[in-house]
Amino acid sequence: MSQSAAVNRRLVLAQSPKGEPDASTFRLETVAVPTPGPGQMLLRTTWLSLDPYMRVRIYETDGYMASVKPGEVMVGGTVSEVVASNLPDYKVGELVHSYAGWQDYTLSDGSDVIIKLPANAKQPSLYLGSLGMPGFTAWYALNQIGHPKAGETFVVAAATGAVGQIIGQLAKLAGCHVVGIAGGADKCAYAVKELGFDACIDHRGAGLPERLKAACPKGIDIYMENVGGPVFDAVLPLMNLNSRMPLCGLVAHYSGAGMNGADRLPGFLTEALFKRMKLEGFIIFDQYPAHYANFLAAMTQPIESGAVKIREHVVGSLEEAPQGFTELLAGGNFGKVVVKVA
Ligand code: NDP
Repeated sequence: MSQSAAVNRRLVLAQSPKGEPDASTFRLETVAVPTPGPGQMLLRTTWLSLDPYMRVRIYETDGYMASVKPGEVMVGGTVSEVVASNLPDYKVGELVHSYAGWQDYTLSDGSDVIIKLPANAKQPSLYLGSLGMPGFTAWYALNQIGHPKAGETFVVAAATGAVGQIIGQLAKLAGCHVVGIAGGADKCAYAVKELGFDACIDHRGAGLPERLKAACPKGIDIYMENVGGPVFDAVLPLMNLNSRMPLCGLVAHYSGAGMNGADRLPGFLTEALFKRMKLEGFIIFDQYPAHYANFLAAMTQPIESGAVKIREHVVGSLEEAPQGFTELLAGGNFGKVVVKVA
């Protein structure tokens, strides 16, 4: 075992936030490193993923999955190194992707491992982003729900984020006219110049509906819904006959904004997402058994070769994870957010 972390730092939920998470939401604890028993291995977290769904997991009441309760270690996807093993299939030094949460060490019997990383994995953190849950989400939503055809118009919000940056490039490869929506001039310039989108609209400026309409002269055939809020209002009138809308996320509403006002739309959309209702709502965790291996087979080469570009937003330490999470929800990230834990 590495000597650089002789204790287990872990971030537990202190209390469910009423609105945006803040410094009182999580608490750092230091406990002893557990010892693996028979049929167990000890995993040391090297990379932790920060994702918008985590806001839903700290609701006071259960959302589409059971909520984390106060005092429990915060959930999160991780890449970990096997540092001790009593399991024949896992050797010391191997890397695995699982959900060890916001902590240095965890015990595993192997059943929670999503994938053992290939020995030659070029960049392990990719398994939390473009080759992990967000990339899988993008690939699945486009191909299984969006069904893109060359010449169609594809729009995605949170366009430079973990999901948006991948799905936009895949839609472009499928021959679509791709329009991103993002927060700020830098993100929009990146979407066009680096990711190859045809246009990108800043949702923070005035006149969003008009600017989006101008960028989509033939209307919208596929809208990847990642945010909700005023962006959705601008998109909806532009949707074409027989258009498709993968209902992926509603990050604008996760901390409660717009949920209790006279406008029932946010509540409706959230229900549609959580209940997997049609537009088509989906939760990617359902799709791993049937599709994740196919996704990896299709996407590993394009991602690792750089044919599909990726941008990471690296948070430098486990202690900074709460702040990184708050910033992510407010659009302070530029790319897929990963925490360098060790
Ligand atoms: P991102 O990396 O895109 O980060 C979230 C982004 O959302 C922010 O950077 C910000 O981008 C944007 N945003 C936040 N608040 C608002 C707002 N009020 N209005 C408009 N945009 C806002 O996150 P991910 O790519 O990881 O996730 C994108 C969405 O997909 C989330 O809703 C997430 O929950 C969902 N998701 C759903 C899955 C499923 O199984 N259904 C799986 C994976 C993700 P900007 O500054 O550009 O506005």
